[in-house]
Amino acid sequence: QVKRRGGNGFRFYDRTMNAASAERVALEADLRHAVERDELFLEFQPVLEAASGRIVSAEALVRWNHPRLGRVPPDRFIAIADETGLIVEIGDWVLNEAARRCHAWHEAGFTDMNVSVNVSAMQFGQPRLLESVRDTLARTGLRPGCLMLEITESSLMQDAESTAGMLRALRNMGVRISVDDFGTGYSSLSYLKRFPIDVIKIDKSFVRDLCTDEEDAAIVRAIIALAHSMRRSTIAEGVETEAQIELLKRERCEYFQGYYYGRPMAFAQLLERLESQDAPVA
Ligand code: C2E
Ligand code: MG
Ligand code: MG
Ligand code: MG
Repeated sequence: QVKRRGGNGFRFYDRTMNAASAERVALEADLRHAVERDELFLEFQPVLEAASGRIVSAEALVRWNHPRLGRVPPDRFIAIADETGLIVEIGDWVLNEAARRCHAWHEAGFTDMNVSVNVSAMQFGQPRLLESVRDTLARTGLRPGCLMLEITESSLMQDAESTAGMLRALRNMGVRISVDDFGTGYSSLSYLKRFPIDVIKIDKSFVRDLCTDEEDAAIVRAIIALAHSMRRSTIAEGVETEAQIELLKRERCEYFQGYYYGRPMAFAQLLERLESQDAPVA
């Protein structure tokens, strides 16, 4: 009896594994057509400047509107895109769409808005990224200084030599660079010296319990101090409470991003936020 149940258990386990990989294969097949079928779209999360309390930038975050499954979050398809190389096409689309939208904010009068775009390790490893960025800027008319590329700490370390070259070339074009999820990778702090990095994004896992966890607070303080001593600025990710903001301000963190100030939102919604922050107070 027990044995048979065990056997069934195994078969069941097997079947769920198959279901998981079958789902993956199906997602991958669908992802191949997502761009041409216009199923991807971007949301934008505001980034505020601590000193002025104003939205100065937005992070572009890709979403997939799957015809059957509905909204598929990036955590479920970016890895697939990376492993299959589809990220190159998707990444180009994201870059272009983000630049086009930022240029539209400029046209609407918000000429100082910036946009940041996540770029995966796989994209950074390809020389064509330079081409893509150059084409995008030319096509959209966006000023290079308004575009920031986000690279995660772990992808920085993957092929340090070629990554350093790529970052320098991008910097020479006037594009800015930030390190995403800082503190979560195998940090070799020396890369801050070697790589032309403008901004450090403090990972939200350190921000979450900042006010209650002494160690998280110590890490955040250390990251900000390090950034400042190297003349880099910091963005705190995942800011959700006023208490976090108070503490981060005391440590002189320059920029905030998180649900407290707004979830990722549609282009038009962010435009409304920009309009309302400039509206005369009644
Ligand atoms: P990320 O670049 O670190 O983006 C920040 C993530 O944190 C976003 O999740 C955002 O919605 C979430 N977040 C923002 N504020 C808060 C907060 O206050 N609390 C909490 N709990 N979460 C917050 P999202 O949009 O699901 O994106 C997940 C990841 O997917 C991104 O992490 C990024 O690594 C990747 N991703 C998104 N779009 C792209 C893209 O166009 N290209 C590439 N290569 N990766 C992307
Ligand atoms: Mg990011
Ligand atoms: Mg992040
Ligand atoms: Mg992340």
